[in-house]
Amino acid sequence: MNISVILLSRITEIFRQHFGVPAFIVRSPGRINLIGEHTDYNLGFVLPASIDKAVYIAINKRDDKEINLVAVDLNESFNTSLDTIQYTDKQWPNYILGVVDQLQKKGYILSGFNAVVAGDVPLGAGLSSSAAVECATAYALNELFVLELTKKAMIQLSQKAENEFVGVQCGIMDQFASMFGKKEQVIRLDCRSLEYEYMPFDTLDNQIILFDTGVKHSLASSEYNLRRQECEAGVAIIQKKYPQVQSLRDADMQMVNTCLPAGDDAIYRRCKYVVEEIQRVQDACTDLIQQDIASFGKKMFATHEGLSRLYEVSCPEADALVTMVTNHPAVLGARMMGGGFGGCTINIMKREKIEELINIVTQKYSEQFGRVLKTYIVNIDNGTSLV
Ligand code: ADP
Ligand code: MG
Repeated sequence: MNISVILLSRITEIFRQHFGVPAFIVRSPGRINLIGEHTDYNLGFVLPASIDKAVYIAINKRDDKEINLVAVDLNESFNTSLDTIQYTDKQWPNYILGVVDQLQKKGYILSGFNAVVAGDVPLGAGLSSSAAVECATAYALNELFVLELTKKAMIQLSQKAENEFVGVQCGIMDQFASMFGKKEQVIRLDCRSLEYEYMPFDTLDNQIILFDTGVKHSLASSEYNLRRQECEAGVAIIQKKYPQVQSLRDADMQMVNTCLPAGDDAIYRRCKYVVEEIQRVQDACTDLIQQDIASFGKKMFATHEGLSRLYEVSCPEADALVTMVTNHPAVLGARMMGGGFGGCTINIMKREKIEELINIVTQKYSEQFGRVLKTYIVNIDNGTSLV
């Protein structure tokens, strides 16, 4: 039986045990990002897609102000009231309550509700299970209370929920991809204007596969904040000579080379990576239009090189996973995905060699790091919707 069918019957059954019959179930997927890393907050381009792993939320309305939540995957429940919503150390309810909080702050009138959440997006692996929970919640509450929000409004309030209520400074990409994803298409998102365009992604011969380093180094959030500051510092310097530059999106390499001391300077290397990466996403889109996945894959390797050497956000585990596949004839492209310091690598490879490659990489990873490698075979699937 299909995994999502199993999940759906499970969630319906657990809902029935606790709350009776759900009004409906919403599905909101996790996401990958093919190319365009650390470009979002520099107002460049990203190229995400939603995947065939999702969070499901079953929901119904109550007559009172109670909010009753069950997280099947965590075997936990949580109860509160619309009038007393606050941050909880339990963590997982925050992604749901944060959305409720945003809606209430915007003046929408809700009543209480019951919700059961379950899914198959791995938690904390960089596939944005958090955005999937938020978008599923926003979509479900919008349906349940007939709020008539647009998808863009739901995305923005989901992001705000994560920024303000959960306290994670994520960009807009994760929620955007979960909500707007489309089967067999990637989304070219302009993070400055939020204009987007679908690009065909050939999955006939090729398979996307993720290798999970299984680590999340503690440097991740401090270095993330530092990178943002370094980019801002670079913009401030470039601006002195080129006042039209408001973000690294507006800069080119000639400006970077003119304004910043080259060589070892950290700000130079950060800016060089970002300016090159923003251009690389656009060139990669040309590859997709020309159905040149080989050329697209080479750009993924170049992105990894930049993230590792210039932007310095990789880690030994991700570097090793990319190195292991670099000269494998079936692998078209590979790179670390996400903010860095752990998470998954994303690989595009010839379908027929998947098993062989997984075996090789699993063994090498275990020898080198003493860890069991988790692998996820993912397909590009539709975004948030009613089931
Ligand atoms: P990522 O978004 O990369 O998966 P995060 O740390 O941002 O990692 O978000 C993971 C958190 O989101 C989990 O620790 C949990 O609190 C919440 N979450 C994700 N999926 C579920 C789920 N199926 N059920 C309950 N909570 C979930
Ligand atoms: Mg997240």
